[in-house]
Amino acid sequence: MAIMITDACINCGACEPECPNNAIYEGGAEWTFADGTGLKGTGNHPSAGAINADATQEPGSMDVYYITTDKCTECVGHFDEPQCVQVCPVACIPVHPQHIESRETLMQKYLRLQATLETSAGPKP
Ligand code: SF4
Ligand code: SF4
Repeated sequence: MAIMITDACINCGACEPECPNNAIYEGGAEWTFADGTGLKGTGNHPSAGAINADATQEPGSMDVYYITTDKCTECVGHFDEPQCVQVCPVACIPVHPQHIESRETLMQKYLRLQATLETSAGPKP
């Protein structure tokens, strides 16, 4: 599975500080892989492929909070349950039907988010 925020979000902000991977952003906010993770520099990512962790990415939504799919592990590696789902007062964080991931894939993503890209992907060209 993967997790997404729907348009039913009321922008309360309760989920953002609960995310252990810093995968949740306010609508309109730009994001990076490096925000709140061990990633920096360039290298490969299990679901995103070749990335520059420090590069600024476009917001996933301009209107409501959003989850960056490539940073969300469904809390695998940190907690037994998705923390954002636990705190959302309007239950607007369902499974993302276009991003179904196995627990193994989510664990690989978690491990990559903990390590620097330079260390795990070898020296830069
Ligand atoms: Fe963050 Fe966990 Fe929610 Fe994914 S499921 S966005 S990792 S709090
Ligand atoms: Fe939106 Fe729910 Fe997050 Fe509040 S907790 S910002 S309603 S997704």
